[in-house]
Amino acid sequence: MEKISCPTCRKAFDQHDERQTNLCLEKFINIATNPVVYSSTKKIICPTCEKDMLDHNQRQAMECVNKFIKQVKDNSD
Ligand SMILES: [Zn+2]
Ligand SMILES: [Zn+2]
Repeated sequence: MEKISCPTCRKAFDQHDERQTNLCLEKFINIATNPVVYSSTKKIICPTCEKDMLDHNQRQAMECVNKFIKQVKDNSD
């Protein structure tokens, strides 16, 4: 199975417990959908399409975030 690395803390998701996964996803959603927050953080590469999150508009960001969440949840089953 392909390893998914966390865009928030950069560790592999299989090193996260469920609580940590939810925390990191929540943080990622906040950053991805909130450019003001994002500009004060380190550069984050979108785990879905591998572009800079800044190259996304709000709608693209949500699409990528949703895809990514689905991927992580599917993988943890
Ligand atoms: Zn993480
Ligand atoms: Zn993307």
